[in-house]
Amino acid sequence: MKYVSEYRDRESALEYAELINQLVTCEWNIMEVCGGQTHSIVKYGIDQLLPASVTLIHGPGCPVCVTPVEFIDQAAAIAGIENVIFCSFGDMLRVPGSTTDLLGVKAAGGDVRMVYSPVDAVQIAVGNPDREVVFFAVGFETTAPVTAAAVLQAEHLGLENFSMLVSHVLVPPAIEAVLSSEECAVQGFLAAGHVCAIMGYKEYEPIAAKYGVPIVVTGFEPLDIFEGIYMCLKQLEQGRADVENQYLRVVSREGNQVSVELIKSVFKVTDRKWRGIGKISDSGLMLKEKYSRFDAGKKFKVSTHEVEEPEICISGEVLRGNKKPGECAAFGKECTPEHPLGAPMVSSEGACAAYYRYRYVRKDDE
Ligand code: SF4
Repeated sequence: MKYVSEYRDRESALEYAELINQLVTCEWNIMEVCGGQTHSIVKYGIDQLLPASVTLIHGPGCPVCVTPVEFIDQAAAIAGIENVIFCSFGDMLRVPGSTTDLLGVKAAGGDVRMVYSPVDAVQIAVGNPDREVVFFAVGFETTAPVTAAAVLQAEHLGLENFSMLVSHVLVPPAIEAVLSSEECAVQGFLAAGHVCAIMGYKEYEPIAAKYGVPIVVTGFEPLDIFEGIYMCLKQLEQGRADVENQYLRVVSREGNQVSVELIKSVFKVTDRKWRGIGKISDSGLMLKEKYSRFDAGKKFKVSTHEVEEPEICISGEVLRGNKKPGECAAFGKECTPEHPLGAPMVSSEGACAAYYRYRYVRKDDE
């Protein structure tokens, strides 16, 4: 297919691998922020074509994985209320809460529906005026504009029976949290191209300057990632710490102003807990006071409590890039995509799911 196949060309990938080999003179650690990039890296074996001195560390860039258990519990409690139609992206349905997941609520009789867009949830609300329709708004800056558009549409239509549970998170504060950690070994970043397509990359410039790390806005196809790694390594070898844009065909420095304004008009920035990581200041979005009537958390006063992850699950270490999924004792045993213990095994962007799908070899297959 045009615009895809040329970014998966094997010979060009091998040429990049050779260029990188010639460039590197010492050990470097680079974090790819986005789970979509992690999947490409593991699927196409990009890490296996790099010199042993270059380590790719998988970052926390999977919004499904970092949604706190308390939010999943809150979603499950609301979804179980009679007369509620609970709408969610498919990835969230199987993310384990403390006692159940949304599919479990559906199996117990709850009206839980998978939608592809919050606007679909608005339409369901229009078609069901006697029911309460709730949308589970999860995602990075990429999905926040369409959530904002759904709020404005619901307001325009005067809907009283539509609300949302907002768990949007922001990438730059997460990068700063990684860099501020005492155990941080990351020396350069591949920033998520789709997030920057919305937000631009101006907000990464002070981070690169403050922490002295190169940040390269990078796409998702194999050659995008090879080029992003090459650009990042070139900066590291030259002692530079700039923000550069590999994903020129999609991303501009300013981003998409219409989307940015949509986000700003409906949401305000708030502190947010990230699953496996903890609270990160100014890393989430919540509805502005003006739109608080669409806040499902306020509308349905369900109570939740702080929850500990299963002891065996090291998803926090995986999400902070300190450990690889294969280092988890439960990987491929107690924890599989069919029976996930932690969110990184559920989500299509989760690191554990990527390793299970592309790298895991069952003992009886060896
Ligand atoms: S393999 Fe499963 S139990 Fe282990 S860290 Fe990943 S999600 Fe948690």
